[in-house]
Amino acid sequence: MAARDSFARTSGLRTTEHLAGTIEKAQKRPEAGGNCWALNDFHAVPDLFMTLRLYNTLSGQLDELAPSDGNELRMYACGPTVYDYGHIGNFRTFLQVDVLRRFLRLAGMKIRHVMNITDVDDKIIRNAAAAGVPIGEYTPLYEQAFLDDLDSLQIERPEILARATAHIPEMVDLVERLSAAGAAYRTGDGDGAGIGTGSWYFRLKAFPEYGKLSKKDLEGITDGARVDVDEYEKDSARDFALWKATKPGETSWETAIGTGRPGWHLECSAMAMKYLGESFDLHAGGEDLMFPHHENEIAQSESVTHKPLARHWFHVRFLLVDGRKMSKSEGNFYTLRDLLLKGYKASAIRLALISVPYRHQLNFTFEGLTEATNAIDRLRTFVSRLKKAGLAEGTTEPLQSAAEKAEAGYFAALENDLNTAEAKAPIFDLIRTVNSALDAGVVLAGDRDRVLAVLDQFDAVFAVIADRDAEPTKSAVAWAQSQGFAEKIAPQLLVAQGLSDEEIDALIAERNLARKQRNFKRSDEIRDELAAKGIVIEDAKDGVRWKRK
Ligand SMILES: [Zn+2]
Repeated sequence: MAARDSFARTSGLRTTEHLAGTIEKAQKRPEAGGNCWALNDFHAVPDLFMTLRLYNTLSGQLDELAPSDGNELRMYACGPTVYDYGHIGNFRTFLQVDVLRRFLRLAGMKIRHVMNITDVDDKIIRNAAAAGVPIGEYTPLYEQAFLDDLDSLQIERPEILARATAHIPEMVDLVERLSAAGAAYRTGDGDGAGIGTGSWYFRLKAFPEYGKLSKKDLEGITDGARVDVDEYEKDSARDFALWKATKPGETSWETAIGTGRPGWHLECSAMAMKYLGESFDLHAGGEDLMFPHHENEIAQSESVTHKPLARHWFHVRFLLVDGRKMSKSEGNFYTLRDLLLKGYKASAIRLALISVPYRHQLNFTFEGLTEATNAIDRLRTFVSRLKKAGLAEGTTEPLQSAAEKAEAGYFAALENDLNTAEAKAPIFDLIRTVNSALDAGVVLAGDRDRVLAVLDQFDAVFAVIADRDAEPTKSAVAWAQSQGFAEKIAPQLLVAQGLSDEEIDALIAERNLARKQRNFKRSDEIRDELAAKGIVIEDAKDGVRWKRK
């Protein structure tokens, strides 16, 4: 199990560090030897594991992904705007980026992954004003909730998290460079525009390549036609706001380019280039960000650097819920916490959201979630059965080759544009084969080690076998109780949460004693009492284990 240890979660951000603008994560990771995809401390299968071919929105084809400096893959992923709790559509994107980074790390690749936290934008300013608090008091709750949700879903934290409000000087500097390059202008009093007086805009005419990423059929560019909001869907290309003049009383910064606040697009360009350089390997985000956000990032950056901002653009398709677009008005809108409170396990939510490859539309349904729950049960039951089996030394040819075949199929599927659906299939085939062999009593200890090693590689990316489900559920229940949403908590969770870990341990100790004293009546009573409260106990050779159902 040494392999899994190198993927042990590191603690990452904590609230006490909240005031720091940027937090670099100390991370345990296997070091890559140059540009090669060596497996390091993983069970060696280097021949199977050569290249990741990943769809590149910019080139419109599958491109091989490797660090351009031969050492470290530098990637940027657009992060959350912290004005609300994250919904499963957001998390599908973050999970698929997690699949990408976990697979790269499984390959021994060194990664420098930067994610922004947007803590100032139109929506935040509006919501904070409605709540009657400054934005600096409004966003920390949602930022922490986001980080907690990442932990619940076993999403690894990026090496660098960067808050927009902590990078105002870098953004001002970029506007000044754009201005010097003739790609930014400031609206003055009485220019007749009516919007954004004193604001800075990007001059679209200065960047003829605008639209090269989304390949949208943009209508003719009208010089000087402006758009002031952070998000817009129109296909007509217009000059967009870089820096917005503010009205009295609004959140603002006094800077060399005037008093105001940054537009949303500007922050990503400024922070990405600060931490990754003017040109880096990969930029990721949900497909809804492709236009205008990513086009605008490209325009802002490349107009001054004349280098490609990112060589590779990775976009995750949005999901449907029960075949329809997820929306609050449709009543099919779910946050992660909504699903945890309905009694679904965090691991099942993770598996349901990653099982469909990132470029395919995922239709999220509760049946799908139940299937994921069952699949995880199969995986965990199998691992526990295999570990417990008393086996003679040695290996058998059929099981060694079955393991090898599963491993090869798994890596081949992930190397092929991260095909998670195809990567899962050989693993479940292997489980069927080994279960039959266990039934027939023909598994040897060396087979078990080999099969567990393959499952470790699977879990290095899928991260669902190791059972870390209790904590997210417990936290969600506590959160709902503290926020006054107790009615949203599924009854079975309340029953299971009714006993603390210590109380369960005490009951199990009492049951052990009763059994030792051959008081089977009491021992059965305790078992039944625990079962009624959703606690399953399992008598193993090395003692009694328990879990919450
Ligand atoms: Zn962004």
